[in-house]
Amino acid sequence: MTRNIICVACPMGCGITVELDDNNEIISVTGNTCKRGDAYARTECTNPVRSLTTTVKVSGGKGPVVPCKSAGAIPKGKIIDCAKALCDVEIPAPVKIGDVVCSDILGTGIDIVATNHCDKA
Ligand code: SF4
Repeated sequence: MTRNIICVACPMGCGITVELDDNNEIISVTGNTCKRGDAYARTECTNPVRSLTTTVKVSGGKGPVVPCKSAGAIPKGKIIDCAKALCDVEIPAPVKIGDVVCSDILGTGIDIVATNHCDKA
């Protein structure tokens, strides 16, 4: 099987072709112009991951929500469930940039951290 993917590891956006055997083992990676592209293509074909950016509710704050992001990459198949889980999270003000708003989300080992502050009302 052949998979054609666009590398998003930098703005060049190289087109990469990955050849896989019947067991989904990688036979070859071509089209990348650097090692980062090779690593990206292999991860994308074997264990795709994504960053998650969203907001969580804040109680007693000057605003109703605070923006946040995953501190690391989350398995692609768990992104939607993680986003849904964060809908139920509410943290008390004040919130500082970098505060962990949800630790080890859904057992992924990845924390969700605030990317802005929210003072008390
Ligand atoms: S292969 Fe290398 S140069 Fe091309 S998009 Fe990926 S990181 Fe950038």
